[in-house]
Amino acid sequence: MKPVYSIVAPVYNEVKVLPEFYERVRKVMQDTHAEWELIMVNDGSRDGSLDAMLSLAAQDSHVKVINFARNFGHQVAVTAGIDYATGDAVILIDTDLQDPPEVIADLIAKWKESYEVVYAIRTKREGETPFKLFTAKVFYRFIYRITDVDIPLDTGDFRLMDERVANVLRQMREHNRFIRGMTSWVGFKQTGVGYIRKPRKAGETKYSLKKMLSFAADAITSFSFFPLQIMVYMSGFLGVMAVIAGIVISILRLAFGAEFFGGQATTIVLLLLLSSFQMFFLFIIGQYVARIYDETRGRPLYVVASTSGFVQPPAQHEPTNKPPYTVAMTVGFDGQEHG
Ligand code: UDP
Ligand code: MG
Repeated sequence: MKPVYSIVAPVYNEVKVLPEFYERVRKVMQDTHAEWELIMVNDGSRDGSLDAMLSLAAQDSHVKVINFARNFGHQVAVTAGIDYATGDAVILIDTDLQDPPEVIADLIAKWKESYEVVYAIRTKREGETPFKLFTAKVFYRFIYRITDVDIPLDTGDFRLMDERVANVLRQMREHNRFIRGMTSWVGFKQTGVGYIRKPRKAGETKYSLKKMLSFAADAITSFSFFPLQIMVYMSGFLGVMAVIAGIVISILRLAFGAEFFGGQATTIVLLLLLSSFQMFFLFIIGQYVARIYDETRGRPLYVVASTSGFVQPPAQHEPTNKPPYTVAMTVGFDGQEHG
């Protein structure tokens, strides 16, 4: 039977929190009195998380398990969960209980008011280092400024999306994935509910500084060509400098004689001019690269929310490229285990 709700939870070495996570999700979902499934994606854990998930799946048929062949990263794990989800609404949540499962009820309430994306906004973050708080704050504000989709401030991946939004995400096969940006990009009616982000229950963050930086790079390069556009400003700046240098040197030479500044003057002006030209053509190349990138990403050109007056809806185009991950095994999807 098709579930109403699919909960998608990425798991990477979370054996200590899994039982409580499952219990709390189960309680919340039971209160909805609707069909649900909990899809846990094991992202290459090495601490027995997989066994814990499999035994949950064995005792409760709501639980389904996707086991990655190795660690592919948080965003890809979430992607796999969305791909396998069959619910009318898909809910993304971290397993470390920083996102309290009880908030799911609030997300669902908004969905029932016919919002297609309901994201959870962290009104307060408890138990995180000042460094993490500061970098997160700067990061979200920077992303907000330079990207061309409105990615809401202070939201993580904790969110609910309607099946229609999930279907668009399933067509977006780009390899560097920034899920929260992608759900914003899709459009539809979106809203947020506030919650207090809790400290991690156990275990430690899997986001090292290195992973955070590469996450930030994904976010920026997936939603903005800003880095490629910087060069045109550089070029302009150097060009203006060349003109100013030319004028200043001419005036000085007219006033103090032709020997002033020796042979360096022309070199400086030429250097500035040439650098300005080079920067400009680098910018042009950057624009072509940006277009190639845009094409290869293969995102849908547009997303239709509704149509009116057509006899038959146009055919949906399936994505042609393969999913960006390799699954070692799935459990619970049709009651069987696939090796
Ligand atoms: N996670 C994952 N693969 C990874 C890193 C993290 O599946 O490579 C999962 C992790 O188990 C957790 C969620 O993604 O459920 C968020 O990770 P974490 O709590 O470490 O990130 P933070 O909350 O510190 O940003
Ligand atoms: Mg966490």
